[in-house]
Amino acid sequence: MKEITRRQFLQGLAAGAAGLGISSVLPGLVPEAEAAAANGMGATPDSASDMTLTVLGARGSSAICRRDSMIFGGCTSCYMLRAGSETVFLDAGTGLLSAPTGYQNPPVFLLSHLHLDHLSGLGMYSRLSEKGAETTIYVPAEDDGAAVQAMDGVYSLPYWPLSLTTYGGDVRILAHRFPLQVGEVTIDGMEGCHPGGVLCFRIQYRGKTLVYASDFEHEEPYFSDLVEFSQGADLVLYDGQYTEEEYEKKKGFGHSTAEKGLELLERSGAGRLLIIHHDPSRTDQQLLEMETQIGRENVRYAREGEEIAL
Ligand SMILES: [Zn+2]
Ligand SMILES: [Zn+2]
Repeated sequence: MKEITRRQFLQGLAAGAAGLGISSVLPGLVPEAEAAAANGMGATPDSASDMTLTVLGARGSSAICRRDSMIFGGCTSCYMLRAGSETVFLDAGTGLLSAPTGYQNPPVFLLSHLHLDHLSGLGMYSRLSEKGAETTIYVPAEDDGAAVQAMDGVYSLPYWPLSLTTYGGDVRILAHRFPLQVGEVTIDGMEGCHPGGVLCFRIQYRGKTLVYASDFEHEEPYFSDLVEFSQGADLVLYDGQYTEEEYEKKKGFGHSTAEKGLELLERSGAGRLLIIHHDPSRTDQQLLEMETQIGRENVRYAREGEEIAL
């Protein structure tokens, strides 16, 4: 196995940033990469929109911790969207444990579905224990009662010592409702194709739009619906867990390919594509090669810790 040098590691963090508007990696993580990104490799953030996405975890299906996966990271699905004074988390995988602790307004979580890789950060998320700290978690469920019940299905004995609503903070678990308004942020939802169901989100704030489509298999009519749903978005996050060859053996598992992501980008007229939900077996070297093969400035595999300005 080829060792990744520190230089490659830093290049990996900053590479391909121009088209995507990478403004930084998490402060202090890799100062040189941050400097490189700020030094012309990263597009200038649009200060008028004041909307940024931080990748806290982009690994699919299971968390990993391996030396060959330090660029793209091993934490599972969690993305933090900052829009003015609002903070919206997309899913709550293990990446949540790297989330900053200060928020202007109480954070809101949008859970796409209840598979463990999208939930497993909540159990140790310290805010839930802070007395008086308000946190709202939107869950795919028929009604609010069913939403609480669904979360208790995972976070209660014998699987976990206590329910999330008994941590001590002001934790509200609610069923998704669309359109949802969080301050000036407007959120719409769409049903995707995944075992047990999944929700995709379209999030708008001051003229900027982000679409989140994790755990999405490109079956029809879902894929065409997603093309419609993503029309004109500035940034689309799309499940590219499999190569085309792998997909042939894993049809029905609920995931897609980078090639379908590119098709989505073309057909929707979206500006940029961030490929997410990396297969646990995938190494940094492989992901860098796959990204190079695509060779487009506006297409990138998500790297844990990076911040993207919309
Ligand atoms: Zn997943
Ligand atoms: Zn899933």
